[in-house]
Amino acid sequence: MNQPICYYIPAHVLANINLARAKDLSEPGSLQQSAKVSEAFRQRRRQAGTAALTPAPPSAGPTRVPASSGTRSHSVPVTRGSSALAPAAIPAGLTTPIPGTHARLIYDDQNQWAFDLVDVRNEDDPALPGQNVNLAYDALGATLEFYREVLGRNSIDNLGLNLDANVNYGVDFDNAFWDGTRMVFGNGDGNIFQDFTKDVDVPGHELTHGVTQFTAGLQYSDQPGALNEATSDIFGACVDARVNHQDAGSFNWLIGEGIMAPQLYGEALRSMAYPGTAYDNSVMGRDPQPATMAGYVPGGDPHVNSGIINRWFYLMATDLGMDEAAKIWYATLQNLWPTAQFADTAQVAAAQARILARAGTVPSRAPQTVRGTAREQGII
Ligand SMILES: [Zn+2]
Repeated sequence: MNQPICYYIPAHVLANINLARAKDLSEPGSLQQSAKVSEAFRQRRRQAGTAALTPAPPSAGPTRVPASSGTRSHSVPVTRGSSALAPAAIPAGLTTPIPGTHARLIYDDQNQWAFDLVDVRNEDDPALPGQNVNLAYDALGATLEFYREVLGRNSIDNLGLNLDANVNYGVDFDNAFWDGTRMVFGNGDGNIFQDFTKDVDVPGHELTHGVTQFTAGLQYSDQPGALNEATSDIFGACVDARVNHQDAGSFNWLIGEGIMAPQLYGEALRSMAYPGTAYDNSVMGRDPQPATMAGYVPGGDPHVNSGIINRWFYLMATDLGMDEAAKIWYATLQNLWPTAQFADTAQVAAAQARILARAGTVPSRAPQTVRGTAREQGII
């Protein structure tokens, strides 16, 4: 399966942060190490195509290994190293999930640059003292529940794929990602980003890239890429709102605000309601997202042009309701193709809105809302 290459923190944000840091630091900081690891992934994935990959540690890699915050010690910790393909060994006392039962398996990487080090909590196992293990378990559960209960989908592949999550990956790793087989969370460096398990829209966003790959298969460049990115923000936001018992009117429509460190409180990575306003500070730079087609960046990064689609969804959801708009978007996703453009998406979305309106699933005005908001955004 050819996964899109998406890190939760996009390259242009990391680049801005590194630039700001370079003025203060003579030695590579954790951000630079995070960027190196992320870039190593991108390069190796480009070379290897579909294989699940393990990144090389950064060349200026960490020399210290702090105690991990989410570890439960087992009498016989089972380590399966960094092999991406070896089957997981289940320590005594933990459940042994059956494949295809949409089960969660949580691993503690103990601040090593390796995956699936110690299996600490699986489906139906009790909560542990470590906060991020439980947050990851709950966030994956909330994402699976959203897909099951709102969209009628059985995990990422609709066949009950089990979800593997890694916490405490690397040292101060300022990112999170889904690599096609596992969700990986860094601890953040504590100055710019906090532990990436702290915002449910992180796994909501990343796991949705898997759903997109199993449905529309949108290419990860230009307009299909922006549609791919927006779809991850859309369903990540839906999961976030659902967990917090909010609807379109009360939700803040911010992506990533829960992982900002205290000194950047109030900033976020993206604003779906007002693209281009999520952040503006000396560390992160300024949010480059356009809000409408008037600001479309030809050939731009999918994380930039996704603002246009994000705001389109926000406008639909504020009129129709979040779940209703999500159902239209999900039906649309299942009828798009890898090279679909924004205007194609508007046509498909209006057609799907008609079908769902006739079935009584969404309000009868939904087709007009889809077209009206698409025109407002300059998409059609
Ligand atoms: Zn993404």
